[in-house]
Amino acid sequence: MSTLDRRDFLRHSLAAGAGAAALGRLPDLSVPRNAGRGANPIIITSHTNETGQEAMRQAWEILASGGMALDAVEKGANIVEVDPNDHSVGYGGLPNAAGVVQLDASCMDGKTYSAGSVACIENIKTPSSVARAVMEHTDHVMLVGKGALAFAVSMGFKEENILTPEAREIWIRWRENLSPNDAYGPPVYLRNRSGGGGSDRRPVESHHGTVNVLAVDSNGDVAGITTTSGLSWKVPGRVGDSPIIGAGLYVDNSVGAAGATGRGEDVMKSLASYFIVGRMRDGRTPQQACEDAIEMIVQRYKAVNIDYVPGEKFVALNKDGEVGCAYMGGGGGPPALTMHTPGGQTQYKGTSLYPVRR
Ligand code: ASP
Repeated sequence: MSTLDRRDFLRHSLAAGAGAAALGRLPDLSVPRNAGRGANPIIITSHTNETGQEAMRQAWEILASGGMALDAVEKGANIVEVDPNDHSVGYGGLPNAAGVVQLDASCMDGKTYSAGSVACIENIKTPSSVARAVMEHTDHVMLVGKGALAFAVSMGFKEENILTPEAREIWIRWRENLSPNDAYGPPVYLRNRSGGGGSDRRPVESHHGTVNVLAVDSNGDVAGITTTSGLSWKVPGRVGDSPIIGAGLYVDNSVGAAGATGRGEDVMKSLASYFIVGRMRDGRTPQQACEDAIEMIVQRYKAVNIDYVPGEKFVALNKDGEVGCAYMGGGGGPPALTMHTPGGQTQYKGTSLYPVRR
């Protein structure tokens, strides 16, 4: 070995030693907990309605026949996305302030430590499958807007109108309710006919909703999807937490997975799904970890003297098949999740912390 070679060799060995020492302070990221042994498969979703239950039934068939967690979560998410009656995701989702449906979705595969996502994508019914395509067919993680749509079309996804007549009707009602004194709504001379300026104005439905689907397959591999039409009436171009890896979704093959629904702005600031998975790695149960995330967000506001509780719901599962769900401030749907295991389908009721104070 020449002097130069030896110097290089020494420098690299020292650097590697320092790196190893620093890594020594990190948890062991190298060995998946279930490596080499089978796991009990499980799939969960934040949706508790009939579509959510049907989604879990069909997705379960994939897991029950030894299929991959990634295929199961995609199947489950797609079923909810194409349901026109579900106004929180995909086809039939509620639009932004301009009446345009812009969707966000992410996908993460613990087995390969891969992720993909799309944000502000229009005219595609199943954005979670586009997120999977980004993950599997590009070297990128995230595509947005027109680029995401062009990519989807190039991959064979059908471009179509996803604003259903019903969702459009709800959007029109929202616009009419913005103010009693603008040019939207019935002509001004008809407004007071049955008494009161708002008599022709009907209440507008809630604007929260997202679906998380998380699974462990019989190989012990973990995958997850989060998909949404985002907050309805959002400012055009707004991106929520759902497509941000670590915020609306996080998967770690040696620990489990977590997902979020509700006011995405707070989930993004706290990287809540990453936080929850980290807590589970530290030994907390999924239930404790979800509650920890809520406490963390509430305490952050308290620390700057703001008395504010955002509306959010977190769901999580670990590789031992334990699940968790916690809910704060009335956001993200009922405080429960639907799960399917070898024992059948059940609903798990989570905890409600810091109930609505608006
Ligand atoms: N988290 C979603 C977003 O902020 C919306 C929701 O779940 O209600 O886009």
